[in-house]
Amino acid sequence: SSHHVSPVFTRALTFGDKVAVVDQNGEHTYKELFCQSLRLSQEICRVLQCSSRDLKEERISFLCPNDASYVVAQWASWMSGGIAVPLYKKHPVQQLEYVIEDSQSALVIATDEYVGKISPSAEKLGVPVLPFRFRSNGSADHTAVEDVPLASSASWKDRGAMIIYTSGTTGRPKGVLSTHENVQAVTTGLVEKWEWKKEDVILHVLPLHHVHGVINKLLCPLWVGATCIMLPEFSAQMVWKKFLSSQAPRVSVFMAVPTIYAKLIEYYDEHFSQPQVQDFVRAFCQENIRLMVSGSAALPVPVLKKWKAITGHTLLERYGMTEIGMALSNPLHGVRVPGSVGTPLPGVEVRIASEKVKGGGRSYTIHAQGDEHGTQVTPGLEGQEGELLVRGSSVFREYWNRPKETREAFTPDGWFRTGDTAAYHDGVYWIKGRTSVDIIKNGGFKISALEVERQLLAHPHITDVAVIGPPDVVWGQRVSAVVQLRRGEMLSVKELKEWARDTMAPYAIPTELIVVEEIPRNQMGKVNKKELLQRFYPA
Ligand code: ATP
Ligand code: MG
Repeated sequence: SSHHVSPVFTRALTFGDKVAVVDQNGEHTYKELFCQSLRLSQEICRVLQCSSRDLKEERISFLCPNDASYVVAQWASWMSGGIAVPLYKKHPVQQLEYVIEDSQSALVIATDEYVGKISPSAEKLGVPVLPFRFRSNGSADHTAVEDVPLASSASWKDRGAMIIYTSGTTGRPKGVLSTHENVQAVTTGLVEKWEWKKEDVILHVLPLHHVHGVINKLLCPLWVGATCIMLPEFSAQMVWKKFLSSQAPRVSVFMAVPTIYAKLIEYYDEHFSQPQVQDFVRAFCQENIRLMVSGSAALPVPVLKKWKAITGHTLLERYGMTEIGMALSNPLHGVRVPGSVGTPLPGVEVRIASEKVKGGGRSYTIHAQGDEHGTQVTPGLEGQEGELLVRGSSVFREYWNRPKETREAFTPDGWFRTGDTAAYHDGVYWIKGRTSVDIIKNGGFKISALEVERQLLAHPHITDVAVIGPPDVVWGQRVSAVVQLRRGEMLSVKELKEWARDTMAPYAIPTELIVVEEIPRNQMGKVNKKELLQRFYPA
């Protein structure tokens, strides 16, 4: 039967001998990846004792390095009718077990290097392990290709494609189940907006258990027949080496989280001090790279400016989350407004709204509503902050096994509540932060931690900052800044107040400063503010 076959991977057949992935083992064509996936899907079916490829959304976890084997495990899960659940190689065993157990996986696929790590956990949970080794020269096996059922139209759409766990910034990570239609919608929306083409070459350096690494950096290039160079993990030296290599395939697209750009800048400052080298870097990046994107966390404006000075590229910032894929993006052509996240992607509808609870009933006031064609503002409400709501075919189906959370995540008329506060003004959308931790209520004021962070980053001594709002009996919350300072520098609250007097609203200036060696950020550049609060302001 062909009911579960999604075009996201069957398109691979049309790209045949084109190179899909370049990794530490060499080059892999689309056909090779496809054949290997087919073979692995047969293995999956053998272990799970189902006849050929008719799993009913069974979850298949897999632990792979960042290379072609990841693609094969993902496609094989889909070919067999299962839901792909990527595990993260750097997660401690406990977290791996959480994902396998919470997703109720029927099987764990592990490449040779990870079989030892995962087997005790799998055994404990009673889940079989399927060891898998990526065999090169797999494209010699042509016979299997004809065996693959092709997409049969509507029925594959509603089937579960993957469960990605949220970053766990505001609680326990939740399993987000996206359908094949959701995955395709995010992919094609980005392909259209950022004009992906088969000549593109992307350098992949992100973990593969979040949408940023899975869809934006991997499924998008594979959708158009482009080439994805996969590094085993991020290394500033390797990235610069690849950017500046004149060997084919030359990098034309790059995407990363803000902390990665900050690290690349650091490396540049340390190693590329000669003016001729700097000229070369700038000219080379300008000539060969067409697009550089930042997302997953707010992009500090100083990083954007420095990156522009170094490479000539204005980073394109976009906004997304696990549940909705990508929703807002600065333009490919046209003005990218620093600090803003642009406008809705193709197929995405957004609203900024505030909820009112009145005598038991709830209603929403809509401040602005828009899609790719434009945004309408309610007269008098331009620029008003509210919750960002999203609707469209990219919005996920459900939190796995959490019907109550799923219900609560949507408004009665079907809009997904992002939990982020946003505003629309000057023709673009602005993210103010998570309503639960980034919107600080100080006296009568609502302060956006992200805004304060943006302003503090302009201070010459501050290199990174996280603003939090500890509880205060008088004011509700205070404004406290956890800061990382330039080496050898010091900063007092008094000095900060002096400095901020002319540029910041008095109530937004932090009254407390906590200096740390390094702001704790996860792989995706995110700060867990609940943890920070607990650490510095234990109850
Ligand atoms: P959890 O839902 O478990 O608390 P999480 O929300 O951090 O974790 P993700 O889905 O990976 O997990 O992250 C989505 C969030 O990342 C968004 O809700 C938003 O707060 C933040 N984000 C993404 N892109 C941007 C951006 N460009 N600017 C500001 N924030 C962003
Ligand atoms: Mg979230």
